[in-house]
Amino acid sequence: MNKSKDFLRAIVDEDLKSGKYKEIVTRFPPEPNGFPHIGHAKSIYINFGIARDFKGHCNLRMDDTDPSKEDTKYVEALKDAVQWLGFDWGDNLYFTSNYFPRIYDYAIKLIKMGKAYVDSLSEEEIRLYRGTVTEAGKRSKYANRSIEENLDLFERMKNGEFKDGEHVLRAKIDMSAPNMKMRDPLLYRIRHAHHFRTGDDWCIYPMYDFAHCLSDYIEGVSHSICTLEFENNRAIYDWVLDTLKLEPPRPYQHEFARLGINYTVMSKRKLLELVEGGQVSGWDDPRMPTIAGYKRRGYTPESILNFCEQIGIAKANSMVDVSQLEFCIRDDLNKKVPRVMCVLDPIKVVIENYDRYEEIDASYYPHDVPKEGSRKLPFSKEIYIERGDFMQNPPKGYFRLTPTQPVRLKHAYIISCSEVVKDSNGNITEIKARYYPESKSGSDTSGIKVKSAIQWVSAKEAKRVEVRLYDRLFLAEAPEGVEDINPNSLKIIKNALVEPAVISEKPDVRFQFEREGYFYADPVDYSDEKPVFNKIVGLKDSWGKKAKSVKPKPQSKKLHVEGEVAPMSEVEQKLFDNYTKNLGLNSEISNTLARDEQLSHFFKEALCEFNSPIGIANIIANEVARELKDKRVDDLKFTPKQLAQLVKIVENGTISNKISKQVFEEMVKTGENPSQIVQTKGLVQISDPAKIEPIIDEIIAKNPDNVAKFRAGNTKLLGFFVGLVLKNTGGKANPKVVNELVAKKLNT
Ligand code: ATP
Ligand code: MG
Repeated sequence: MNKSKDFLRAIVDEDLKSGKYKEIVTRFPPEPNGFPHIGHAKSIYINFGIARDFKGHCNLRMDDTDPSKEDTKYVEALKDAVQWLGFDWGDNLYFTSNYFPRIYDYAIKLIKMGKAYVDSLSEEEIRLYRGTVTEAGKRSKYANRSIEENLDLFERMKNGEFKDGEHVLRAKIDMSAPNMKMRDPLLYRIRHAHHFRTGDDWCIYPMYDFAHCLSDYIEGVSHSICTLEFENNRAIYDWVLDTLKLEPPRPYQHEFARLGINYTVMSKRKLLELVEGGQVSGWDDPRMPTIAGYKRRGYTPESILNFCEQIGIAKANSMVDVSQLEFCIRDDLNKKVPRVMCVLDPIKVVIENYDRYEEIDASYYPHDVPKEGSRKLPFSKEIYIERGDFMQNPPKGYFRLTPTQPVRLKHAYIISCSEVVKDSNGNITEIKARYYPESKSGSDTSGIKVKSAIQWVSAKEAKRVEVRLYDRLFLAEAPEGVEDINPNSLKIIKNALVEPAVISEKPDVRFQFEREGYFYADPVDYSDEKPVFNKIVGLKDSWGKKAKSVKPKPQSKKLHVEGEVAPMSEVEQKLFDNYTKNLGLNSEISNTLARDEQLSHFFKEALCEFNSPIGIANIIANEVARELKDKRVDDLKFTPKQLAQLVKIVENGTISNKISKQVFEEMVKTGENPSQIVQTKGLVQISDPAKIEPIIDEIIAKNPDNVAKFRAGNTKLLGFFVGLVLKNTGGKANPKVVNELVAKKLNT
């Protein structure tokens, strides 16, 4: 190992040197009650990684002590995840349930030592008796039972003579221990439930604190590595193993910081809610932070391992930026995958002076990528280009095709527009063009200057594919669950066109679609009849380039390093004061706008069209600023005036706030007027209760369990229902109306 060691490896190293253990044995011990997520990837990487580095081994142990939530399908998912990440447990796949008989024997031993007793207090009493952090607890009167009585009761618990909750087995430690966990912790409880492996053999199940340390010991684990929230449990871990006077060597527990990622939910329980609520298509929905989700989306195992390596192992919990994970996949694919052409929103171009057919030999990789390979790219009279790559009335600085500006077709010729064909509504249906025979890429002698190259496909040879564009699943930086779902996290494009090479390549390949991002053939839904591609991640944009931009601009608060905020110039300060004092903007938004000349100018122009400072400033400081991270104002397709119109139709209630995001996305792509987009896509907001109520009724009828939970007091579920209704209307329903109606219906 050449890397400097993290604190866990330092401990392991020391323990080997001192001869405490002959072999390093770690384990990854998930509970099979859900699919593993990226947090588990970190744990896998640590446990299997350490075992590998020190030539020991790592056990995969299913911690299956809670029969009610566990299932074989989760066992399979866990095995899959470990394998996919490139690790191998060899013969060491274990189940805690295999040890139930031995753990039971250890419990008997503790009882015989006078170190454990059967308690018959109710759950509520046990909680009350435990005391508080500042107050000692009180021992149960049952703690005085004789060893014989305890043995008898415990056996009868095992034989199924009692109901759930009637008795528990507890360790006899110290009811006034400062560590609350040590106040006679529970070792066993009664659960009359069917276990997916042991069936009905048992109706008592060991608690985590009892089962885990013993399982580690039974397996000969040396280092039991877990997350920080188990820090206080370590005392029980040690107490059990020491009290039983087990033959050495025994395992020791070490804690590290749990992985948290912003805009991501990281708990199997919450992820299960999304699956059960239908907010995602399943555990492997490509938007899910599960290993199965990343795998299906097209992430590579290498990218996830790199991410785990980069974030390191710490002793204090912290939040990792999701863009770091996105960076890792981009970084991995950038130099690996072939670059091909895909047109998402096609418009036909007829090249009038071209009457041949040719196949262009086009490299899959740019010069700076040390990989080779090429394909034959069909070129013909009729091609498709991206609708947004042509503009009839372009704003200044638009570099692609216009009636007066030629453009290069990537790998092929330069074309210019000779005529624009429109339908009776004025929509462009076709572009007539001319090509320059001398301008072929690689042997261009035409002398014509172009400002950009665009993607295209030959009309006849192109293949129709479905493309699924994913956005973050959650809008909130620290999402709770369903209530923070991003309603636009999935956009399906049914009729995208790709060049034929994309289809003839083997499945399980990733591509870069030029100028769009990285894509992966969906392993589940892809078929020859309907090829489906998932967008893995967009092209590198966000931070690298931003850092290089001439003028540093504060993007958002969290990017600032404490104490490093540059003072404002006089002009900026004036703007800032005007925004906060006269226009009523908050200081964060004012700060963003005032410090950025492009944004403040954009803002000023938009206000001339529609005077609603707060609404306009919001969208400029967020959405427009995001667009400008890698573009200049001149490259934007939409104008300040159009943006103001968008705010106007939100404020007059024509469209909902949610839909406005969708319209904005469209404006970004096409530069069309917002009201035009709303018209063609039928996005007008629905506020009429008569239209919304039937949808609510249907959703209520379909979710009786959640209705019952809501009525029993889980009012958080209101968000769940509202979310479903909004989703059902494609985000078009007026959220305020929906909220009121849902609340009314659920409360009656
Ligand atoms: P969840 O709350 O998502 O169910 P868990 O900790 O209950 O997670 P387990 O199946 O018990 O899930 O976890 C298996 C192993 O993975 C444990 O050692 C646990 O500490 C580790 N682990 C779980 N979540 C994370 C995380 N976010 N970061 C690092 N390790 C994690
Ligand atoms: Mg858990």
